[in-house]
Amino acid sequence: MNSIPPSPDTRHLTPDEIELWAEGLLPAARDVHIGECAVCRATAERERKLFRDLGQLTRFAPEFGFVERVMARVKIPAPSGPHLRPDADA
Ligand SMILES: [Zn+2]
Repeated sequence: MNSIPPSPDTRHLTPDEIELWAEGLLPAARDVHIGECAVCRATAERERKLFRDLGQLTRFAPEFGFVERVMARVKIPAPSGPHLRPDADA
């Protein structure tokens, strides 16, 4: 008789679990799934690459104030609510 695992966890990994995997924190029970599921493995590899890229971005982060300077140049129109004008003539 074949021994069937009690309850194989065959669900695809959630985005949260993939993030855990990328951080090396995914429980072994779910880690098995990545080994067996091409879909999740592809997603996980992509996530891990993203993590690595982010890590490099952090390492080569521009000097402090870069974001502020960029944002100062980018004019963001102040949000004007459509219904926030009490003096609008009807
Ligand atoms: Zn899967």
